[in-house]
Amino acid sequence: MFLQQLEQAVPYVTVEPEYLEILRHPKEVLELSLPVRLDGGGVKVFKAWRSHHNNALGPYKGGVRYHAEVSRDEVVALSSWMTIKCAIAGLPYGGGKGGISVDIRELSRNELETLSRAYAFGLARFTGTDYDIPAPDVYTNPQIMSWFLDTYEKVKGWSESSAYTGKPPVLGGSLGRSDATGKGGVFILREGLAKLGLLGKKDLKVGIQGYGNAGTRAHRFVEDDLGLTVVAVSDSGAALYNPKGLPYREVSKHKNNTRSLKGFQGAEELFPDLFFGLDMDILILAALGGAVDAQNAPDIKAHVLLEIANGPVTPDAEALLTDKGVTIIPDVLANAGGVIVSCFEWIQGRSGDVWTEEYVFQKLDERLTLSFKDVMKIAEDRKISARKAAYVKAVGRIVDAMRFRGIWP
Ligand code: NAD
Repeated sequence: MFLQQLEQAVPYVTVEPEYLEILRHPKEVLELSLPVRLDGGGVKVFKAWRSHHNNALGPYKGGVRYHAEVSRDEVVALSSWMTIKCAIAGLPYGGGKGGISVDIRELSRNELETLSRAYAFGLARFTGTDYDIPAPDVYTNPQIMSWFLDTYEKVKGWSESSAYTGKPPVLGGSLGRSDATGKGGVFILREGLAKLGLLGKKDLKVGIQGYGNAGTRAHRFVEDDLGLTVVAVSDSGAALYNPKGLPYREVSKHKNNTRSLKGFQGAEELFPDLFFGLDMDILILAALGGAVDAQNAPDIKAHVLLEIANGPVTPDAEALLTDKGVTIIPDVLANAGGVIVSCFEWIQGRSGDVWTEEYVFQKLDERLTLSFKDVMKIAEDRKISARKAAYVKAVGRIVDAMRFRGIWP
């Protein structure tokens, strides 16, 4: 998908073929086999990776994903998207990404800590404040970042809090980091609705696929900041629908207490695969990549799609939806809030400063609004989709840096 998206932008950007060829490949990929002694006896070996896609603009930056389906190819694709995303947001970073093929539900807390420390130990020579700065992604969180950082610092023998971001505030994490992806997605949605002349229409109905870190926050800020009604939400176990509305505080309380959307009173409960057919105007995709494909795209009733997940709409599905007149706000723009606040955390760590949450969100809003306007200007000038325009902006900036650097070694 990344390669197809890159190719689609090529006709609109002036770039020498050799630089494009470089962008088609990750610069380096570390593969690890991590043995973990299980509580019940025996040892299990987990496969893990860290991909460094491109560092022309600065150190590699990107999350670490824990999921049974993580593969080398997925990690490489996600690191490539990080290169693009950081370039669009104007951050001083390249793109990296990591992952472990693991179903965390099968691990005890002790096994999860051992696995996380084994990964950070294996990565210690491949990461660092000025080289590669990992962060959370699917099924990783501030606790896991704390184990990563602690292991890294013990290997190095010094304190280096900016080597990881997404930490708890007491270890140098930024205020607002946990909310950043959802909050940033809603800032971008606000700009998108304004562009479509829909901002302020209070009867727009919203659906959210994926109810984890990003999806729950998107629910809260869509209600609190935009005053819109969420009528449908889903996670991997269930979809909930109530055309009169699903209040954030009630649904998130249920999800926190039971770790599932199943059993929530006050909504119709459906299988997750019926979710896209539900009546909604705005669909927020906050689960996993490839969620919308050519088979389920025709079911979608929403007119606006906000991609908070990475790569949630396949190129085939995008073509079908665009033909139907659906507006897609692409991932590399819509989910940049996480990495932007990670950058703020990195800056605070390096300078010893602590920013208020209000200041963090104000800076986040400024940066995302600027990115959105830059991308939309390219889209309008060249008459291309927002995704192609985002790639045009990113590739232009990355290749500019590569030209100054030259191709060496
Ligand atoms: P998370 O692990 O907290 O949540 C993922 C959610 O998706 C869970 O609720 C899970 O039940 C749900 N899900 C999985 N399969 C599903 C399915 N088939 N149907 C419906 N729901 C399903 O992860 P997250 O951090 O919220 O990330 C979600 C997406 O956003 C990922 O694609 C991630 O790469 C992207 N993203 C996250 C961040 C961040 O800062 N957290 C930043 C940028 C992008």
